[in-house]
Amino acid sequence: MAVPQRRISKTRKRMRRTHFKLAPKGLVVCKHCGEMIQPHMVCPHCGYYNGKQIVGKKEEKKVENKTEKKGEKKKESKK
Ligand SMILES: [Zn+2]
Repeated sequence: MAVPQRRISKTRKRMRRTHFKLAPKGLVVCKHCGEMIQPHMVCPHCGYYNGKQIVGKKEEKKVENKTEKKGEKKKESKK
């Protein structure tokens, strides 16, 4: 087993560890909404990827339809 001949001083240890740091993430501008997003990922703001809407389109329509139906039913029952 390799054994260090002498201990590393506090300064030398700390100088070495100055290089242990996180690099900033690369970001690109979304072509659809203009927000800063990670490349090669579906945009979390608008759900678009490669010019097509991948996330959120169907869910929004379902929610709208449910709310409209509920409102109509309530109105009809009251009459
Ligand atoms: Zn977007």
